[in-house]
Formats: sequence, structure tokens, C-alpha cells
Amino acid sequence: MTSTAPKHHKAKALKPGSVRPAKELCSECGLCDTYYIHYVKEACAFINQQIPELETESHGRARDLDNENELYFGVHQEMMAARKVEPIEGAQWTGIVSTIAIEMLTQGKVEGVVCVQNTPEDRFQPMPVIARTPEEILAARVNKPTLSPNLSILEQVEQSGMKRLLAIGVGCQIQALRAVEKQLGLEKLYVLGTPCVDNVTRAGLQKFLETTSRSPETVVHYEFMQDFRVHFKHEDGSTETVPFFGLKTNQLKDVFAPSCMTCFDYVNSLADLVVGYMGAPFGWQWIVVRNDTGKEMLEMAMEQLETQPVMSKGDRRQAVQQSIPAYDQGVTLPMWAAKLMGVVIEKIGPKGLEYARFSIDSHFTRNYLYTKRNYPQKLQQHVPEFAKKIVDQYQLPED
Ligand code: FAD
Ligand code: SF4
Repeated sequence: MTSTAPKHHKAKALKPGSVRPAKELCSECGLCDTYYIHYVKEACAFINQQIPELETESHGRARDLDNENELYFGVHQEMMAARKVEPIEGAQWTGIVSTIAIEMLTQGKVEGVVCVQNTPEDRFQPMPVIARTPEEILAARVNKPTLSPNLSILEQVEQSGMKRLLAIGVGCQIQALRAVEKQLGLEKLYVLGTPCVDNVTRAGLQKFLETTSRSPETVVHYEFMQDFRVHFKHEDGSTETVPFFGLKTNQLKDVFAPSCMTCFDYVNSLADLVVGYMGAPFGWQWIVVRNDTGKEMLEMAMEQLETQPVMSKGDRRQAVQQSIPAYDQGVTLPMWAAKLMGVVIEKIGPKGLEYARFSIDSHFTRNYLYTKRNYPQKLQQHVPEFAKKIVDQYQLPED
């Protein structure tokens, strides 16, 4: 008897805790927790970087490297700043991601939404789910600032017989998802992405909170914001801010996951629609519509949003160039100097899209150096052309 089941059904998911094919570079995206591990050599973002090829497949054209906005933010039709007129309580920003997901589900565009809730015991321990009700989507609001195995639910998608799905995720998850998209048996996949950078394991998160916050155990939410400060929100509703320049870089140097130190997909190049904050004025979210599917998704929530055009002010380049040796040598400023520098840079520093470029430039230069030092054999294949072009604008230390 011949079986008609797809080949990947024969593959076996890896056991939790076992070494993954990408070894220490694994971002725990979840693919290897399923029989889709069959495709790992091609699909894993850290084994086979293929952003340009998948961009053309997903968006119908390549990124235009001669257009500065495309070079930095990826293929897109449109960008804007937006916020919910009535923000969702407890969301990371104003809850645009959760709102779009709820509308897609309740208006029947999709049968389920891949998103990540937290475990009952730990607010920062990710628990990926396929949400089928608005309540389940809302329960996934707010960032779990830890590596999250969102794709671990892929077997459930196929088994459920679902044909129309919305997946929410960060770049490495979406890259692997795009690579196996055709194997999922779906009629339509919608992809809603967020930018992502400097993620950590659960243990790394603890170290970050303990070295940076005055009260690590009560933090419910944090973000590196456009005013060059980390904003922590505590259980009692109070806010604590710590200037970037005052972070204990020497202690935090190896807190970020090695996957994130070699990542060049900050802006989630392969999602249909991206919702972040860094290209927008403080308090607003930043939206990048990559293709028609992304436009269709954004339209579902448009009535609930106020919007304004994106803006750009200042010049990031000197600040980026100065950040390179500072990070490299693990320099930490005394708190008074860090605060002063934060105030000055906030007044005269880069704003809007220029702030986003500041953040991309400083992370790409750092990650390029990290990759070059630790994985020299990977450098050529792993760093996409757009990232090479961005990094080439700066002088990097010689080794
Ligand atoms: P909400 O409505 O609160 O929904 C958040 C959604 O994110 C939920 O649906 C949930 O399923 C999903 N999610 C939560 N944690 C994870 C995770 N670990 N992996 C995958 N999906 C997850 N934006 C920027 O512009 N610049 C940045 O530097 C930046 N860094 C980020 C770093 C991390 C680790 C993450 C997870 C996100 C980052 N973002 C960044 C995105 C930004 O913080 C917000 O998530 C985004 O603007 C959406 O806000 P919201 O209020 O609309 O989301
Ligand atoms: Fe597997 Fe994902 Fe880890 Fe790559 S990043 S080894 S695909 S779990």
C-alpha cells in the first residue's frame, strides 16, 4: 500500500532541551519541535539565510537597494504612524497587532491566529497557541521579551484541517514559516510581523532585569524607546526609566541570545504587514505595508486608528559611529553622564525614520562584528546584501 501523506510526516520532532540543528545559534523558533524539522536545513534562518529569495516570492519583487527606505525597511507599498483611538489596556503599545488579529478572526477572514500567550506561572514564559476566539487573542497581548517557539504549533495547524490562518511573529519565526508555507496545506496564510532585536532566553531576561531595574520582580512590561531610555512598567502601574547610555554594557554583553547577535532581519522583511514603533514619533506605532495582503489586513482595523504620515529628522551617523567602539569595549557611563547624554540626544537626536535607521545601523554594525569574530565562515552567506550595504557606511575596528 502506498501512503499519500506528505514526506515530512515521517520526520520526528526533537525532544525539548535537545541540541538543535543550528546549535547555539538556534532562536527556538519552534520549527524543530514539529515534523517540519524535515525542512530545517533549508528553512532555518540561522542555517540558510534566504531573505532576498523569499522577499521576491512573498511580495512579488525584490527590495530596491537604491531606494533608502527600501534598503532599510524592506519591500513596501506604504508606511505610516498610527495609534488606536482607544488603546487596548495592557498591550505592548496601543494594541494594533491584537486589534487586527481580532478583526480578521471575527470578520471571518481566518479560522485561527498563531500568537503567544504566557504560562500561568510566569508572565514572561512564552506559550504559543492557535487562538480561535477574541479572548484568546487578547490573552496574547504584550511582548514576551524572550525567545518564543511560535512555530511549535504547526503540526496542530495541519491536523486541525484549518485552511485560512493568520500568523503573528518575529523575523526568524517568519523566515522559517515562509520556507515551509507551501507544505502547510493552507488556502491562505496572512502574516502579521513585529520588528525584533536583542531578544534573550528566559535566564538572560532575568539577568537583564536584575542588572537594570530597581525592582526586577515587579516588571510587567519594558521597551527600549525612542527617547533613548528603557521604560519599565511595574505591577503597581509606576514607570521606571533608565537611559540607554547608562546600561551596564560590560555585564550585559553576553545576555542577548547568539541568534539575535547574528540577526539582520530587524524589520521582519517577509511579513505582509509590520507593526512596530521605532519609525514613529513617541507614543505612536509604526506601520509598514509590504504587499496587497498586508493592505487588506490593515484595512480591517483602519476605522479604529488615527494616523499621520511618517517623518524623519536629524542625522544619526555620528551617533552610530561613536556607538561602535563604545559597545565593543563595553563602556558604561556614570549615571549622571548617561542621563545628561540622554537629554541632549533626545533634544537634537534622530527622530522618526531617522531614529529607526539609528537603531538598525547600530545593531547591524554590532552584529556584523559579532558574526565576523565568532562565525567567520558564515559571514558571506549569512549577511544579506542590504545589511552589507548598511554596514559599509561605517568604519569598523580592525581585528
Ligand atoms: P500587542 O497588541 O500587545 O500584541 C503583541 C503581539 O506580539 C501578540 O499578538 C503576541 O502574540 C506577539 N508576541 C509577543 N511576544 C512575542 C515573541 N517573543 N515572539 C513572537 N511574537 C510575540 N518594535 C520596534 O519598532 N523596534 C524594536 O526594537 C522592537 N523590538 C522588539 C523586540 C521583541 C523581543 C519583540 C517581541 C517585539 C519588538 N518590537 C519592536 C515590536 C513592538 O515592541 C510591539 O510588539 C509592536 O509594536 C506591537 O505592539 P502592539 O501594542 O500592537 O502589540
Ligand atoms: Fe530549528 Fe528554528 Fe532552532 Fe533553526 S532556529 S534550529 S529552525 S528551532
